[in-house]
Amino acid sequence: IGEPAVAADEFPLSTADGIRLTLQANIDHPSELRHLSPTNVDGIGLFRTEYLMASPADLADEERQVAIYTEMLAWAGGLPVTIRLLDFGADKPPPGEATDPSSFLGLRGIRLLLARPDMLRTQVRALLRAAPAGRLRVLLPMVTAPSEVEQTRAVFAEEAARLSARGVSHAMPPLGLMVEVPAAALMPEAFAAEFFSFGTNDLAQYLSASARDNAAVSPLYAAARAAVLRFLAMTVPLVAATGRSVGICGDLAGDPTALPALLSCGFRDFSMAPRRMTLARAALSRLNADGSEARG
Ligand code: PEP
Ligand code: MG
Repeated sequence: IGEPAVAADEFPLSTADGIRLTLQANIDHPSELRHLSPTNVDGIGLFRTEYLMASPADLADEERQVAIYTEMLAWAGGLPVTIRLLDFGADKPPPGEATDPSSFLGLRGIRLLLARPDMLRTQVRALLRAAPAGRLRVLLPMVTAPSEVEQTRAVFAEEAARLSARGVSHAMPPLGLMVEVPAAALMPEAFAAEFFSFGTNDLAQYLSASARDNAAVSPLYAAARAAVLRFLAMTVPLVAATGRSVGICGDLAGDPTALPALLSCGFRDFSMAPRRMTLARAALSRLNADGSEARG
C-alpha cells in the first residue's frame, strides 16, 4: 500500500551539512513490504503486530507469528527490523473482546500484556525463534515504569531458557522502549532498555489529556503540538545522555513542517509510513542538522 518509497539514488540520506540520517518504515501489515525495497530504506522502525491478529486463534498461533517475523527479517537482509509487542487496549481491543472506553489510561500496551501472559509468552517465543533470521529489535509499547521492562525481560529470559531446554534454535533480541508516556520520557536512565523510540501520537494525547480518537477534543490535541515539540526538546537530550539510540516513529516524524524542530531536538533516526517518505526525505536533505534551512 503506497508507492515505492524513493528512487535509489536518493539513498542514503544526509542533511545539507552532511550529517547522516536514517529513514525507516512504519508497517501495519507485512503485505506493505511488497511496495517497499530494502535497498531504499534503513530498515523497519515500527511493525505494529496487533493488526496481524484477526481472531483469538491468531493470538495463540505461535507458528504463524514465527513465519511472518522470519519472512520480514529475510526481506530486510540484515537491516534492523523493529517489531513492537502487541499494543492492544483502548482503540485496539484484542480480537473478540470489547473496547474499554477508559483504557487509554488503563490496561493498554505492555500493561495489558503483563496482565495476559498467555498472549505475551506466545509472541515472545515467536520473536525469540525468528530472531536468528536477521537483525531483530523488539519494542515495548506504553511503558510507564522500569519494572515493566524488567518483567518483560524476565519473560524473554524464561522463554529462551525453555527453548534451549527443548533444543529449539533462538536468539535474544535487544528490547527497546516506545517513549509515549511522559513519565518514561523524563526518566530514561531508569529503564533497562537497549534503545528508545518516541511515539508522538500517544505522547501528544497524554501531554494534552485529549484522547486521540475523540473528535470532540481533536482541536486540543492539535493545539498541543508546540508543547509536544518543547517536551521533545527537553527530553531527547535526556535519552541521548543514556548513550543508547533514540529515534522517532510517531506521525510527527513524517510531517515535513515538524522536521526542522525534530532535527534541532537531536533526532537523527526517523521512522514513518512509507507514503510519507518521499516528501520527508526531500525536506530533510534541504535542512542542516540543527534544523536550519540550508542556503542556496
Ligand atoms: C505513537 O503513539 O506515536 C505510535 C507510533 O504508536 P501508535 O500510533 O501505534 O500508537
Ligand atoms: Mg502509540
